[in-house]
Amino acid sequence: MSTSIEQLSCQELVELVTNYLEDALAQEERDSFEHHIAGCTGCHEYVRQMRQTIELTGRLTTADVSPEVEAKLLAVFRDWKSR
Ligand SMILES: [Zn+2]
Repeated sequence: MSTSIEQLSCQELVELVTNYLEDALAQEERDSFEHHIAGCTGCHEYVRQMRQTIELTGRLTTADVSPEVEAKLLAVFRDWKSR
């Protein structure tokens, strides 16, 4: 991971979202993450929904996000971006 602020891809963002919400990112990663969601409606919505999920369930670990759910979300992003 570079120390400069880089553009994250949507897939990289999805991989970081649990760490972000658990406040477990390095400062540079957090900056990149927030930079991305500020300009990407799909990921902004994704983070919002993840936050909501945590509020509903009380907690969220990486294990709670099944590969199926993650793949489905990425498919939704691709679909959204292709419009
Ligand atoms: Zn994105």
